Amino acid sequence: MKKYWHLMLVAFIGIFFLAACGKGDSEKKTAKLREEPYYQEKFLMGTYVRIRVYDEGKEDALKPAFDRVKELADKITINQKGSEIDAINAQAGVKPVKVTSDMYYLLKEAYKYSEETNEAFNMTIGAITQLWRIGFDDARKPAQSEIDAALKKIDFHKVKFNDKDQTVYLEEKGMIIDLGAIAKGYITDEVVKVLKEKGVTSAIVDLGGNVYVLGHSNRGESDPWNVGIQDPNKDRGSIVGSIKEKNRTIVTSGIYERFLEVDGKKYHHIFDSKTGYPYDNDIAGVSIITNKSIDGDALSTSVFAMGVKEGLEFVEEHEKGSDAIFVTKDDKIYVTNGIKDNFKIGKDSGYTMGNRSELK
Ligand code: ADP
Ligand code: MG
Repeated sequence: MKKYWHLMLVAFIGIFFLAACGKGDSEKKTAKLREEPYYQEKFLMGTYVRIRVYDEGKEDALKPAFDRVKELADKITINQKGSEIDAINAQAGVKPVKVTSDMYYLLKEAYKYSEETNEAFNMTIGAITQLWRIGFDDARKPAQSEIDAALKKIDFHKVKFNDKDQTVYLEEKGMIIDLGAIAKGYITDEVVKVLKEKGVTSAIVDLGGNVYVLGHSNRGESDPWNVGIQDPNKDRGSIVGSIKEKNRTIVTSGIYERFLEVDGKKYHHIFDSKTGYPYDNDIAGVSIITNKSIDGDALSTSVFAMGVKEGLEFVEEHEKGSDAIFVTKDDKIYVTNGIKDNFKIGKDSGYTMGNRSELK
């Protein structure tokens, strides 16, 4: 497996889809939409990419959509010859590297999030993630001296952009950009763009933990999609609950799928760029609901720095109209005010709704 794509392994709290539900008002049923979607699945970036298109006659949209995934994946992967991110990392401390517009945009977004989250999200986390290598066979707990040395290579302010030349430069040797926390979100948005360009109005795009539900469900115009939220503590297919959405993205991130256990302690894959260790708080998993998947992806990683209480507030304030579902290590669920009525907890899920006002 290419080294970078461990970053993209299917997120633990995957999201999967229940059948489109709702009242199924037959009068509203649009004839153009199919009962069974045109469907294709490919294993790319270490995850299953699944696209379902419901518009009658739009099967042709699948190929360009997958082509776009492949094109972007090849540019973003690290440790692969020809990848643009790898070229920037290889030239750290040496010289600026010219990149394509896609990557320039993505890197600028990554910088923006590094700033706005006060480094909870840090685009230069690579020196630490490559040291621990959580998710790889050779994952290990590094010595403190190694962590201290790697921390010196982390500073997003040292990523220099030149808009005129469209170049990116890492000012110090050994710095490593890691876009694992937003790449899938960005690619999801780009796939949706391609589908829309091809005239698709109803579709489900699923890149592991990043999902986008386009348009209304095939049951009719008044019916959103019913999206099941995966239980982070159980096998795939068990859900903690569900929400109804259209033209939105649901991005999930959890700590129990990829971790390393040393002396009985679990170390997961989202790191504090100030200490070099994984964040350790009350969050087991989170799902972010937003308009753009890149935002949802960045937020889903960032909130791990904050814990549930602050995380809920951050999502509500940062991106108006964004929502979140937090699953805690003690089996409670907390949701933002915007989806209080939308989120339905699974009857036999074993979870209970937590009271936000009691959070410390
Ligand atoms: P998943 O990969 O499970 O979908 P995320 O979207 O949360 O989950 O991304 C986690 C990945 O982000 C890690 O594997 C690593 O590559 C990268 N990463 C880890 N910690 C940080 C951080 N503090 N800031 C930015 N990226 C991070
Ligand atoms: Mg993320």
